[in-house]
Amino acid sequence: MTLDDVPKVNSLLKKEFKAHAAPIIELIEAQTHDPFCVLVGTILSARTKDQCTAGAVKRLFSRMGGTATPDALEAIPVPELEKLIFPVGFYHDKARHLHALPKVLRERFGGVLPHTVEELCELPGVGRKTANLTVAVGFNLPAICVDVHVHRITNRLGLIRTKTPLETEMELRRILPVRYWKTWNSHLVSFGQTRCFPRNPDCQGCPIRPFCPSCTVSPGSSGSNASNDTGAVGDHVKRDFSRLHEAGHCHTD
Ligand code: SF4
Repeated sequence: MTLDDVPKVNSLLKKEFKAHAAPIIELIEAQTHDPFCVLVGTILSARTKDQCTAGAVKRLFSRMGGTATPDALEAIPVPELEKLIFPVGFYHDKARHLHALPKVLRERFGGVLPHTVEELCELPGVGRKTANLTVAVGFNLPAICVDVHVHRITNRLGLIRTKTPLETEMELRRILPVRYWKTWNSHLVSFGQTRCFPRNPDCQGCPIRPFCPSCTVSPGSSGSNASNDTGAVGDHVKRDFSRLHEAGHCHTD
């Protein structure tokens, strides 16, 4: 795949995206239209499957009266927060970060949630992926959130060749037209969860197969030949993400 193929591939990925359930963070945005809710949901979603995140978000937001606000969040003691968000990954750390978040927000930003990646990264529990997703989904501003799926699939497609998510983010910022930034994450997260799996990608019938140099199915073949492979993108991607894949789908930091 080359940069010239981006419009066509993006259009095909958009169709696939619409055929499946939206990622949890998109759902939170659609239901709340609130960047702070998106931030809280994104923190919870790190190293956690969407279904698990959805349950935690529901319990936590219900406890706060249906939506997340800094004041309501700060009023919940850490042990109760832990119980509410269990069993999301790293729930001890996430409970501490969520409890500390309103105070830091007040002291550093006057209680107003910032909308730049750099400023958001100053908040507890917020790294580049969480910050990028909050900017893109919560504030509807250009940002590229690179998680395991985005890193793996853009490398498989041969659009970039990078070793880390941070390299991928910087490279995509350099080469990808800004109009594709916001949806690149949601399209590829959905695609990575439903077809272009870390192991055994479902290449047979893949709509972007003609653009993919890592396709595991030869023309005329009836099935995948990558039973134990990550899709022939190269050992660097397999190494970087083998541990994260064990933790399940990962949207954020
Ligand atoms: S052809 Fe296979 S490896 Fe390539 S994008 Fe499609 S599912 Fe992924």
